[in-house]
Amino acid sequence: MFKRRAGIRSLKRMLKMELVEELLEERKTGEQKDKQLAKLKITIEDLDKLRQEEDEINNKLEEEMDKQQLLHEQLQANKILTKQLEKIALENRCSICLFPWEANNYHRLVSLKCGHLFGEMCIRTHLQQSNICPICRKIAVGRDVRRVLLNHTP
Ligand SMILES: [Zn+2]
Ligand SMILES: [Zn+2]
Repeated sequence: MFKRRAGIRSLKRMLKMELVEELLEERKTGEQKDKQLAKLKITIEDLDKLRQEEDEINNKLEEEMDKQQLLHEQLQANKILTKQLEKIALENRCSICLFPWEANNYHRLVSLKCGHLFGEMCIRTHLQQSNICPICRKIAVGRDVRRVLLNHTP
């Protein structure tokens, strides 16, 4: 009887100890889980930060690319403008002598009936030999020669 009781007591003690150990173990794994969770949280926060930084970099890159694109377009527009100005400068010459016409004097700006422009002396000389416009070949005579007044000419 006594032996049995002692056996039960020691069994109880053993069970108790096992329970305590189990509880301790559980608490340990709980703490580990908490630690892991905390680590995970840090990792997620870091990831978010990294992602944010990446977004910022991407935004900056896009801005830079937009700027480059704008610059490129401006450059293109400038090139077109320069070409147009060159063309205008080229067109603002007497097509007979290739010199620019003058506001006054013998090479002043005149037009024919067809609308084409020349230096006066050049077209008068030309019309003495041929009664056609040197550009469009429409009939032109001396009395068709009209002075053209530019707005900025005094
Ligand atoms: Zn001329
Ligand atoms: Zn003409």
